[in-house]
Amino acid sequence: MALFSSENPHYKYNRKTLKYERIDNTFKYHLMRTLRVVIFGSVIGFGVFIALIFLIPSPAQKRLAEENDRINSQYQLLSKQLDEALEVMNLIQERDDNFYRVMLQADSIPAALRTGNITNTTRYDQWDNLRTGTIVKETSQKMDLLNRMLYTQSRSFDELVNLSKEHEDRLLHIPAIQPVSNKDLKRTASGYGRRIDPIYKTIRFHKGMDFSAPIGTDIFATANGTITSIGWKQGYGNCIVIDHGYDYVTLYAHIHKFKKGLRRGSKVSRGDVIAYVGNTGKSTGPHLHYEVRYKGVHQNPQNYYFLDLTPEEYDEMIRISSNSSQTFD
Ligand SMILES: [Zn+2]
Repeated sequence: MALFSSENPHYKYNRKTLKYERIDNTFKYHLMRTLRVVIFGSVIGFGVFIALIFLIPSPAQKRLAEENDRINSQYQLLSKQLDEALEVMNLIQERDDNFYRVMLQADSIPAALRTGNITNTTRYDQWDNLRTGTIVKETSQKMDLLNRMLYTQSRSFDELVNLSKEHEDRLLHIPAIQPVSNKDLKRTASGYGRRIDPIYKTIRFHKGMDFSAPIGTDIFATANGTITSIGWKQGYGNCIVIDHGYDYVTLYAHIHKFKKGLRRGSKVSRGDVIAYVGNTGKSTGPHLHYEVRYKGVHQNPQNYYFLDLTPEEYDEMIRISSNSSQTFD
């Protein structure tokens, strides 16, 4: 250790005296040597100090690390809860698309519209350089996805509420009951289709359904609508035509008398008495001839009694009405 030793004396060559002179006995030499020791010691000490700072965490750092861990596990928990919420949301969406929207004849909502472009954005990149960045990013994405899905779903429900109101109105305007009281179906006389004409005895297409009933029996409007024709019609006798909207029209023929007060333009509701069974026009006995038209095309009325008949009664009606080969017209 030359630095601290004085056993080997230091010499320096003096050009003036041409001699080697001893220098370790001068004040300058001692001062420099002391300074060297002090500076060297300080550098070592400082180095050790810095190393300790980095190796041993301070209480504040310890607290921060603990906090970080707690935040991290809280995020893990949130992320798991969001997974569960998203699962419930998916079930609601499925029910919406495959049940509610099908029932109300609405198109299903495209998946892209339901989820939006949540993952395709740089908004979450700010979390990338954090130690816990991945979990924070994932959780934020899930939260945004759930928000987006909730928004779309609530819009869908708003739409369905409107559709169901419309649907309800539509149901009120579609013919759905029998035009005369026919509890035991005994009044079912003749059905829709090819039948023998009661007068000419030739095969003709019967465009409606006949209900045999005593003169004066109540005739009901089969759905809500407006009377567009009330009076005598060639062949039909006294006749009422009701326009129900939604492209549905019904016709009631061979009427004995119209209900008092009804005229063209009168509004009627399903079940209202509009007239009484008769035998007017081309008719071979007291009966009601009833027609249903959709978009101007004659329909088989027996498909429009769905509020009136159980499936069994419906079967029975088909049997009775197709049995009789001859109509009352
Ligand atoms: Zn008929």
